[in-house]
Amino acid sequence: MSNAEEHAHRLNDQSDPTEIYTLFSCSICSQRLGDPVTCAGCGETRCRACFALSTSPTPPQRPEGEAAPRRDDEHTQPDSEATDPPVHAEGVRIPCCCSAPQFKRAKQDVTIHNLLTAIIRSNPCAISGGTGTLMRDAPSIPISSLRPLLKPNLDCSVCYDIFCDPTTTPCGHSFCRVCLLRSMDYSTSCPTCRASLPSHRDPLAKNRMLAKAIMTLFPTQARERCEDVRAGLEMPANILNGNDQQSELTIPLFVCAVGLPEMPTFLHVFEPRYRLMLRRCLESDRRFGIVLPYRRVAWASDDPPVNAYGRLPCMTKGTVLEIRGVEYLPDGRMLVESLGVDRFTIRDWAWHDDYLIGRIRTFTDLVAAEQARLELEDIAVNVASGLLPGADSDNSTASTSIAALPTHALISLAARFVSQVHNASAPWLSSSVVTAYGPAPLEDASKFSWWCGAVWPVDEWEKWRLLDETSVRGRMKIVVGWMEAMEGSRWWGGGCHIS
Ligand SMILES: [Zn+2]
Ligand SMILES: [Zn+2]
Ligand SMILES: [Zn+2]
Ligand SMILES: [Zn+2]
Repeated sequence: MSNAEEHAHRLNDQSDPTEIYTLFSCSICSQRLGDPVTCAGCGETRCRACFALSTSPTPPQRPEGEAAPRRDDEHTQPDSEATDPPVHAEGVRIPCCCSAPQFKRAKQDVTIHNLLTAIIRSNPCAISGGTGTLMRDAPSIPISSLRPLLKPNLDCSVCYDIFCDPTTTPCGHSFCRVCLLRSMDYSTSCPTCRASLPSHRDPLAKNRMLAKAIMTLFPTQARERCEDVRAGLEMPANILNGNDQQSELTIPLFVCAVGLPEMPTFLHVFEPRYRLMLRRCLESDRRFGIVLPYRRVAWASDDPPVNAYGRLPCMTKGTVLEIRGVEYLPDGRMLVESLGVDRFTIRDWAWHDDYLIGRIRTFTDLVAAEQARLELEDIAVNVASGLLPGADSDNSTASTSIAALPTHALISLAARFVSQVHNASAPWLSSSVVTAYGPAPLEDASKFSWWCGAVWPVDEWEKWRLLDETSVRGRMKIVVGWMEAMEGSRWWGGGCHIS
């Protein structure tokens, strides 16, 4: 702990009032800040002159005899010590963020500047002297009287409360971290001055000097405010209660489309609430659930379940996606690449910051032996009812005859169709589609069924049917059904009929 830090730590109402300056000493020259600048990348505050030194690879060389640069502070005359050129203290490492283009041209830290101004103006000697001069040993009002003068400078202009995790933008304005990030989901400009902000890709660091000053001068208010912020981030009670079962998880839900297990899902996220949701996912386990909006469909005609939050606005089954990559567009929109992990059923839900949170239970396919038993049973029932096993070339009866085919035959039919379609250069199976989803995974029957669901040009509610099936056979029957519908309509390959 440096001397300055030790002093700040001990600062209380009985402290020598001048010790308040220990809260505002430059991390490079160790003197009271002159023209404070905070690097948004690392959250370090320094004098502008020291900041300039730290962002250039070598300190600027002055011609012989030229005076050292003077600090330009409108309220103070630099004292004799301050006229010395700022030098990097022994062992001070300058983080590389400070010279990054998005942080390098940081403006004056308005909050710290205003705090220093308020302290200096509070000094009766300084004011009566008329010059604003402040000597280190000059008398000043007690710290208890300084607090009310400083407090208005420590209120966030977004929430009107004391800063929680103060974060300073390159334009020099400070906000609670949570307030700034929320604001950035809606707009990429500073809430105070409208200057454009770095995107979420370049996370802004906590202003450590400001955070320490707040914790030293207003510890109770700061703690209460941060507890409130944390409470606001907590999950609603009905989602947490009953979440002790290992098979149940709490997950944010993106109501939008179908995601399929083992397959990539590409999302273009522009709604602020979902940007917030995905940002939080990226800070935690990178997982969220994707679900279709509710619609009454023939194969899932149940009414949506209802709880204290009203009707569930989406289908009850969805897929857990894991974020693999994110690209931020300059206006804050996100392009997200994710991979399907697990299917789930929603057990309970709540609204949280405008998006849906679900308590879910994941499910998988039946074990192989059970799938094999059901396959034999299914074939036997269909053969007994008069269907011939085998693909029927007559399309009018084809949809009924696939039910009597063994699963491996369904897979072969679909695989042959896919290869013919690909050879015929049908647009829905172009090389870019194959690049995105990979070639047909014929070696893995289950994955192949999901792959068909991902590439086939059918609507989302058709794809959703696959999620509901807990056997490869169930899904392949649906896929072969699509195939036969396509063969019947002959539009799939520009009119070329396959034999
Ligand atoms: Zn300095
Ligand atoms: Zn930095
Ligand atoms: Zn705030
Ligand atoms: Zn600003």
